[in-house]
Amino acid sequence: MTAIGTPPPLPLRIARVEPLTRTRALRGPFDYRLGPEHDGVGVGSVLRVRFSGRRTLAVVVEVAAESELAPERLASPEAVLPTGIPGDLVALAQWLAHEYVSTPSRALSLMLAPGAASGLGAKLVLTASLTEPGRAALEGEERLTDGQRAVLGALAQDGPAPAARLGTATLRRLESRGLVALERMTERRRPPLASVGALGGVATLTADQQIALDVVCAGLAGGDRGLLLHGVTGSGKTEVYLRAVAAVLASGRGAVVLVPEIALTPQTLARFQQRFGDVVAVLHSALSAGERHDEWLALASGQARVCVGPRSAVFAPIPDIGLIVIDEEHDGSYKHEGDPRYDARTVAMHRARQHGAVLLAGSATPRPESAVSLRRLRLPDRVDGQALPPVRVLDMRGSHHPLHPHTRTALADVRRSGGKAIVLLNRRGWSNFLSCRDCGHVWMCPNCEVALVLHSWTTRVRPDQARPDAERAAYPSGATIACHHCGHRERVPTRCVACGSVAVARHGAGTERLEHELREAIGGHGFPVFRLDADVVGIKDRVARTLSDFGAASSGLLVGTQMVAKGHDFPDVTLGVVLDADQTLRFPDFRAEERTFALITQLAGRAGRGDRGGVVLVQTLAPDARCIQFAARHDSDGFLERELVMRRALGYPPFGTLIRIVCSSPQQGDAMAVAGALRDAIALPPGSVLGPAPLFRLRGRSRSQLVVRTPQRRAAIEAVGAAVEGEAVAASRRGVSLSVDVDPQ
Ligand code: ADP
Ligand code: ZN
Ligand code: ZN
Repeated sequence: MTAIGTPPPLPLRIARVEPLTRTRALRGPFDYRLGPEHDGVGVGSVLRVRFSGRRTLAVVVEVAAESELAPERLASPEAVLPTGIPGDLVALAQWLAHEYVSTPSRALSLMLAPGAASGLGAKLVLTASLTEPGRAALEGEERLTDGQRAVLGALAQDGPAPAARLGTATLRRLESRGLVALERMTERRRPPLASVGALGGVATLTADQQIALDVVCAGLAGGDRGLLLHGVTGSGKTEVYLRAVAAVLASGRGAVVLVPEIALTPQTLARFQQRFGDVVAVLHSALSAGERHDEWLALASGQARVCVGPRSAVFAPIPDIGLIVIDEEHDGSYKHEGDPRYDARTVAMHRARQHGAVLLAGSATPRPESAVSLRRLRLPDRVDGQALPPVRVLDMRGSHHPLHPHTRTALADVRRSGGKAIVLLNRRGWSNFLSCRDCGHVWMCPNCEVALVLHSWTTRVRPDQARPDAERAAYPSGATIACHHCGHRERVPTRCVACGSVAVARHGAGTERLEHELREAIGGHGFPVFRLDADVVGIKDRVARTLSDFGAASSGLLVGTQMVAKGHDFPDVTLGVVLDADQTLRFPDFRAEERTFALITQLAGRAGRGDRGGVVLVQTLAPDARCIQFAARHDSDGFLERELVMRRALGYPPFGTLIRIVCSSPQQGDAMAVAGALRDAIALPPGSVLGPAPLFRLRGRSRSQLVVRTPQRRAAIEAVGAAVEGEAVAASRRGVSLSVDVDPQ
């Protein structure tokens, strides 16, 4: 006889979780007790829990059998969300939090399924399918109306279909006779395809493309896995990516394709969609919440195996990644500007290692960092055999006109011959700043220590609809002066607030004024002038429309900031102009030369893509600057070589690591005091930490900065992490926020 007693206690299951909060002054993970109803909970599960008196989401980072706390003191989760985070992304988040001196909670937030937190679920659609009796009825003598027969026929031929499409009433009648089955099934909400015409396939690769592809395939089979495709603009890099993705798909694995910005380069996305169809998912912020959710799930479930998207797509939930492509790897958009300040290129390298995947970065102007760490594959020639356009450097010293005589002639020629030109000025707005001619007062932002920029805000007027009278006004109505940092705006002053003088001077020119002046000078009927800059980006579909309008126009002008130099492919652009090319050089930043070189080279890549050839004009006050000279010769190898020598001598990346720490506070002294305490707390050899140095006020906060520069990356990250952790509570008590930027741009 067996004794009937209490059953043995269930083994204790503890979930160690990171609550998803923004605060730094918190040390997880925290233990929760799982019950029998939490059977499916594991690493990556997203729970709803009570945490210090509030309801919050939390991610399980570990499941354990014991806790330091007594089991009866542990709370249980209130609910488990249906979609969790894949285990490899939990590990990636933990690495990311450490590498970028952030918190696990902030890093895990990046990995959540879109919409999961707000309870977004799959879209269920009533779906009809044919039953066996239904199939028999179609072939047999069953009594059917013509309509019923048509519906059954369609289901027999095309398989299950949404009920609404076939007629719900008819289907209900057929269902009652057992001829069809009606079920609610999930339907993948698909984002609209990139709106680009059919892009033809390519029959044979060039010899250089084939060599590059062979190395990628060797990498997939266990060879070199860190590759840099260094190819001039138009050398067929994208075609190599496409073939590489095809090879990965054939082996049963998945691929991530990172692009700088979908809106600016719809062609790249379109080429992937056209070649691979439904197996391609896109993830970017312009999708609806439902679309993003479904694309994410399609990837997580293996229904889609290629993800194309901007930097955040590096977190695509693909279970087995064989390849990560980084298109235009020099592009600044790969750096994330919110905490954690991750760099998608570095994350991609880590993730590729995690998955045993090949990393394939490509650019015409690769970064020094990539040149030293990746094996270089070269595509030295354009596919069409055309030479790169000649670049002429125009000396603007002593000139009073914004356009060099050569530039004016060249633009007039383009107009006369019915061609197209792109003009780049890396400064948006109308005028740079306003000042009083009598007392020198400069209009500044009340929240930030920067000058306010005059804007005409005529972005809502399409070029073909611009009213001629508005064009002729000094600046069109609706003009304001605005802060480019915090968005503060005020009306354009008519008199000086300091001395009352009415002599208000406008200084410098931005893209708005350039657009206006070029339209006056050479625009007109049949020669539209388009503008592309950050002010246009906020307007829905405006970027895509501007690009497609410029592409469709038979001739015209595209004016804008660096956005006009991104990978667009307009075969009929014969002239590229860079105005004030040295303006990016005037930033006190060791990457200024790299940025200037890339900007000129990339713009040159937009010109002369067709059989009419092209030319690039570079206006500058620093015609002898080496980056400008190298760009004029299309010599990216020469530029890289010299850049690496300088960086090595100065201990800059890739030969050293930089970490920037910014303390900010409403009160001036507090930020400085915390920065000083941090500097003392960072345990690194003397000389590694520079500062604290004051920065200009931003959004009403005083700021103070430390910069760590050292060849010891790991030690620096550890030391900064420990110091920040040690000071976090004291800082938050004083109202000081800390921001850490590893590898600042
Ligand atoms: P990149 O990405 O280097 O700027 P693309 O891949 O966009 O260059 O190629 C430029 C153009 O050349 C595209 O229109 C592409 O279809 C075409 N192309 C690429 N490879 C080949 C090839 N092997 N043969 C013919 N055309 C090609
Ligand atoms: Zn004045
Ligand atoms: Zn401001």
